[in-house]
Amino acid sequence: MNQCLPLGKLSFGMGDRFGHQGKAQLRACVLATELGAHFVPVWNKSNREHSFIGTEPSSLRAEADDAVKALGWKKSYHVDADHIRLETVDRFIAPSDFFTIDVADSIGKPASVTDVKAFAARHPELNGTVSIPNIDKPFVISRTEVERVANKFLLAVQDAGKIYRHILAAKGAENFITEVSMDETDSPQTPTELLIILAAIADQKIPIQTIAPKFTGRFNKGVDYVGDVKQFEKEFNDDLAVIAFAVKKYGLPPSLKLSVHSGSDKFSIYEPMRRALKKFDAGVHIKTAGTTWLEELIGLAEAGGDGLEIAKEIYACAMEHVDEFCAPYASVIDIDKAKLPGAAVVNGWNSKQFTDALRHDQKNPGYNSSFRQLLHVSFKVAAKKGGRYLNALKKHEAIVARNVTKNLFERHMKPLLLGK
Ligand SMILES: [Zn+2]
Repeated sequence: MNQCLPLGKLSFGMGDRFGHQGKAQLRACVLATELGAHFVPVWNKSNREHSFIGTEPSSLRAEADDAVKALGWKKSYHVDADHIRLETVDRFIAPSDFFTIDVADSIGKPASVTDVKAFAARHPELNGTVSIPNIDKPFVISRTEVERVANKFLLAVQDAGKIYRHILAAKGAENFITEVSMDETDSPQTPTELLIILAAIADQKIPIQTIAPKFTGRFNKGVDYVGDVKQFEKEFNDDLAVIAFAVKKYGLPPSLKLSVHSGSDKFSIYEPMRRALKKFDAGVHIKTAGTTWLEELIGLAEAGGDGLEIAKEIYACAMEHVDEFCAPYASVIDIDKAKLPGAAVVNGWNSKQFTDALRHDQKNPGYNSSFRQLLHVSFKVAAKKGGRYLNALKKHEAIVARNVTKNLFERHMKPLLLGK
């Protein structure tokens, strides 16, 4: 296996679309460290986000470095080139030290028949009864099943190998962390599939430290998990067992852990996750992004005056383009259009009405998950406002920062660390 830059046990991915909340986000990690549980901060921004906002990957590095300097953070931190592919990775290579290699598009595209046969032949241990510690029922995997799974995932893993080696040649093995993401696809991967995928990743000698499978249930943007929590818990536990097994069997880095994408706001699964992580003494990477942009809007609305004004303008524009904005996110949002208040209604709201509807507090009767999800996917409207939006963030920095920090720390890190 190749060397790699080590990643700490608990890490927290934070996206910051407009590049102003780095310090507020890092403050949440400081607070968690003070509680005795340390999250390694990882700033992530995808190619898609950079394109929408019109920023370069080097800006994220600058933001992270500035935040670290300003807060005197002495521990490790990373900058994640999120969801990159071979065509998009190059401008990320210099400023990033964490690479989320996205191979979801290659899943299901058949690999070469020779490669599939060779894979199955090289891995007789996957064939038959496979007993994995902490999984009740051993996996019974036929040769046909190994080949079926290999046929579905081998090309994707070979692509990951190509991208990994491209980064390796440019940066040197010990200078970066590798994640492989398979979450943006139709069907969840079973624990058996995960095992076979990890064997293939080991064949490619990728020193993978985080893997993002697609889990069962819906991981909608900025709102709670939708699905069978019990089934999720079993799958999450089985995945942890598979990872521990694969690390030993295939010599993968001992720091290998699950990465949970769209991991923000999934309040109902944090407790099951916390239990499982404790049971396996395992780490996890939680990736969040848009939840911070929503806290910016909450902060602006809370500030009142021109802050509330711009938040209302953004909503009015989102309503005008509701179908256009929602279409690309169809598989990761569930908006009930009948529950979206009209722009004229919202224009009459005061700060409290706006923040009650938007803030992710399920106990608040004013909370409106459709309103929240629509604004989540409407960040392009704020990007179009350019300087006016950024100036509002600067003017109301204190109140926005307070919301950003509190959201990450109270609603995410605390339940993951301490339980309710
Ligand atoms: Zn993702």
